[in-house]
Amino acid sequence: MDKGGFLEKVREGAELIKMHVELGHTIRIISHRDADGITAGAILAKAIAREGGNFHLSIVKQLSEDLIKELADEKQKIYVFSDLGSGSIRLIEKYLSNASVVIADHHPPEDGEIKSDSHILVNPTQFGANSVRDLSGSGVAYFVAREINEKNRDLSYLALVGAVGDMQEIDGQFHGMNLDIIADAKELDLIEIRKEIRLYGRETRKLYQMLAYATNPELPEITGDERKAIEFLRAKGFDPDMYYWQLREEEKKRFNDLVVIHLIKHGAGKDTIDRIIGDVVLIKLYREGDPRHEAREFATLLNATGRLNAGTLGVAICLGDEDAFRAALKLVDDYKREQIEARKYLIQNWNSTVIERENVYVFYAGKNIRDTLVGIAANMAISSRLANPEKPVIVLADGEEDGLIKGSARTTEKALAKGYHLGEALRKVAEIIGGEGGGHAIAAGIRFPKDKLEEFAELINKALGEQLNGN
Ligand code: C5P
Ligand code: C5P
Ligand code: C5P
Ligand code: ZN
Repeated sequence: MDKGGFLEKVREGAELIKMHVELGHTIRIISHRDADGITAGAILAKAIAREGGNFHLSIVKQLSEDLIKELADEKQKIYVFSDLGSGSIRLIEKYLSNASVVIADHHPPEDGEIKSDSHILVNPTQFGANSVRDLSGSGVAYFVAREINEKNRDLSYLALVGAVGDMQEIDGQFHGMNLDIIADAKELDLIEIRKEIRLYGRETRKLYQMLAYATNPELPEITGDERKAIEFLRAKGFDPDMYYWQLREEEKKRFNDLVVIHLIKHGAGKDTIDRIIGDVVLIKLYREGDPRHEAREFATLLNATGRLNAGTLGVAICLGDEDAFRAALKLVDDYKREQIEARKYLIQNWNSTVIERENVYVFYAGKNIRDTLVGIAANMAISSRLANPEKPVIVLADGEEDGLIKGSARTTEKALAKGYHLGEALRKVAEIIGGEGGGHAIAAGIRFPKDKLEEFAELINKALGEQLNGN
């Protein structure tokens, strides 16, 4: 990617924000409500506070036309969007033409062009970056913050929490400009990157729970079965009640090997084996056993706040608020439990419910899976081998507040190699049936009216098929 070109845009964005801080204007920040968006918002808020500026931050589910209108009614002088905005350029141009705007985002931009001189799009995909590997929304926010003031290098670790939340290192290692953030964080001795097992729960799950609840990847014959996990560990001389962080170095190695061998024995593919041991980010500001010590657990804590519309609680955690941290700890268990329930529902109902077409699986869960978990469910359909990994999966559920259906599409690199782009396909279908859709090639989302469900399955199959033919 063209790093120089990207950093030039970063500079323009940072200068614009600084100018408004100097003028005493409130910096209106709007960020996405997942871990990536929450860390992005926290980084920007901290950077502005350090300059002596005022900010007003909202963490939102998505950027709708109504929301942009409401924001316009606030008549702020400057709006900063992070981890979202690129999919709404036309609307931002339309309603916020009288204000300054900085969009610090990593989603592939929609066709719209920025025309206003006072609107700046800071987006690495315009400089050749891959949106799901090379930089996340929090990473973009970090570079803007670093440009505002060198001091903000100490926020680098938060950018990595966001990157992990977005699964930028899903193949086992970091790429692109994430590596520059890692270099900054290491220079300040804020983090350590270790090659460790990449299963959820290094800090807070007992070893048997780590194995029994593994979903990404699944451990054949162990995932979903605590008793099997305990037997498996005892047979190999491990105390099932210990935590991974408590193991000595040689024990960690032996544990890692066991899991790898188990996967190989059960015919796991090379991709799975390659990524099970890989980059794990440890944050030195926190002690071992604290979920904030390991980036994936930290990100999960933030995701748990976001999905309950308590994203600003997540921001407070990022800013070091211990009360916020304790409040969020209570939310994580429920969140994880619900993921397990979603997996069960998916497995039990897949065959009877799934609509399989040439280019897609569509699974409508109604109210049985919460709308904030459909993305995770779609990945689970792939990792539990319900779905052929070369065919995109879309899980749909009834939206919680608005009577719309919410869907998440997920797929794999292998499927992308055939030409699929989920974000483009969903945007196109949403335009036809009246909804909002978009996102990355490998992971995208959509919301549309409930009575269009049947039409949806046919249209998305067609849209994905057209991509294969190179149209
Ligand atoms: O918000 P957006 O950038 O904000 O989030 C990216 C989404 O894509 C996350 O839900 C992440 O888990 C998902 N993802 C995925 N597979 C990948 C990369 C990202 O499902 N290979
Ligand atoms: O929503 P996303 O696409 O990020 O989820 C992908 C995978 O990551 C799922 O298998 C899920 O179990 C895991 N995940 C998680 N905790 C989160 C987010 C995702 O365990 N907070
Ligand atoms: O909602 P979900 O987690 O499935 O979204 C996957 C990715 O697609 C996220 O990065 C999200 O920000 C993006 N997305 C988008 N436009 C939409 C819906 C989702 O850019 N309308
Ligand atoms: Zn993101």
